[in-house]
Amino acid sequence: MTVTTEPTIVRGESTSPLVTADEFPPLTHFIDGSFVGGAGEDSASVTTTTIVNPADGTAIAEVAEGTAGDVDSAVVAARRALTAWRATTPKQRADILFAIADRVEENADLLIRLESLNTGKPRVVSEDDISMSADVFRFAAGAGRAFTEMGSGDYVEGHTSVILREPVGVVGVVVPWNYPLLMAAWKIGPILAAGNTLVLKPSEQTPLSTLKFVELIADLLPAGVLNLVTGLGPSVGARLSDHPDIDLVALTGSVPSGQAVATSAGESLKRVHLELGGKAPVIVFDDADLQAAAEGVREAGFWNSGQECGAGTRVLVHSSVAEEFTRLLAEQVSSYVLGDPRGGDDVELGPMISEAHFERVTSFLDRAIADGARPVVGGSAVDDPGFFVAPTVLADVAPGSEASQHEIFGPVVTIETFETEEEALARANEVPYGLAASVWTKDAARSLDAPRHLDFGTVWVNSHLALASEVPRGGFKGSGYGRDLSIYALNDFTRTKHVQINHSR
Ligand code: NAD
Repeated sequence: MTVTTEPTIVRGESTSPLVTADEFPPLTHFIDGSFVGGAGEDSASVTTTTIVNPADGTAIAEVAEGTAGDVDSAVVAARRALTAWRATTPKQRADILFAIADRVEENADLLIRLESLNTGKPRVVSEDDISMSADVFRFAAGAGRAFTEMGSGDYVEGHTSVILREPVGVVGVVVPWNYPLLMAAWKIGPILAAGNTLVLKPSEQTPLSTLKFVELIADLLPAGVLNLVTGLGPSVGARLSDHPDIDLVALTGSVPSGQAVATSAGESLKRVHLELGGKAPVIVFDDADLQAAAEGVREAGFWNSGQECGAGTRVLVHSSVAEEFTRLLAEQVSSYVLGDPRGGDDVELGPMISEAHFERVTSFLDRAIADGARPVVGGSAVDDPGFFVAPTVLADVAPGSEASQHEIFGPVVTIETFETEEEALARANEVPYGLAASVWTKDAARSLDAPRHLDFGTVWVNSHLALASEVPRGGFKGSGYGRDLSIYALNDFTRTKHVQINHSR
């Protein structure tokens, strides 16, 4: 099979801005209920990070670069606010979380446009992110009220045991750029529902929607409960990891950042919650509905331009159906429309987040092709001022090769073949990650049994990437530990305390 059609390219011909100047949030830290330290206050002393629109490479904002001292101020505020916040009832916190969800929904259009401006995401992806952010707050509100501990009991003669579920305390949160507000919401919802206070660092590349969110909800929370410090990982993120007065640090990001956070958190023995990278295998058996599998990989491999930790990027297909499946997948992927979010509602694929990431993805492609992989669709960058990579399907990818083992984090799906079920399951587990996987089969017994042999925190059967606030998300192995979403996130952001009362007379 040779290279098929290139994707349709749609350009953002409209020159009207996605977001007007008066709609931007304050571009600085939010500490103890106020925006502080921005360029407006003492511009000579404030270092800033330039925020770039990846759809056209233009600079769109200058955001304050925080310091360890800014984190220290935010931690003082969060610690001070903790006493009163943790004493509120689950119902009082739920009322606030519902109000936050309402505020997100009331301002959804602006948050969607800000997200698209800062990440280059098509509107359809930003819409999904913002509506799920609101849902996470609603879920956390209800779950916080329903979260109960083991009942009291007499386990030692003359003593009654009561097990209390308490907030952990002050939580430091570091989030990535691929779903800026959504990844923040996954942490903020359960952290607040459980009675903790927090200091959040958005990605230095994508702080705009989270800053706007904080501005929009500022009146709903007591000062100091939610603090935000903008800035870089090695300074602001590192201080959140080593700060002696932070009780738990949660990071969603790459494996090296997770290792850095866990290492420095070890000094103070604070708890660590890590959601790291992934390399999700998609196992297509010979009895699968191949058309459904190809349509599934179209979504799962390319949603958010493949900048998705659970993306289904590594297809393992039975050799007897490999040619047919590859043809169907090529057909699916060739129908993608790629472009600036202003290019129209039919745009489905955006750019890579930055020039550096664009270089990283294209160099992965170059090495894979030099290694013998065969591009069936795409295979290179798109000639444009933005950071666009053509949606790509690579066949004949060698087992154990770099493209088969490592997270590319771009619009690239690789195809390998297998002969037996045992081989497929063993090879699927061969990656250093353990976040997500999927199995495509019509065999009922196989659909129940195969997931048990897969070392991944989520395994889908005849689906990939379906998500709900009620179910846990998180990984094994190099993908980290800790769970987002669901009641398990509340578990992770709380601690148990045993109180035993001697009532002997
Ligand atoms: P990244 O690790 O470069 O950055 C993530 C965050 O960590 C940023 O805010 C960054 O400033 C901060 N950071 C960097 N170095 C740090 C350090 N030494 N100490 C503390 N903080 C530090 O990751 P990214 O490029 O922004 O995001 C992409 C990665 O995130 C991918 O690997 C992806 O798979 C992963 N991710 C995982 C999930 C999940 O649920 N498991 C979800 C989204 C993204």
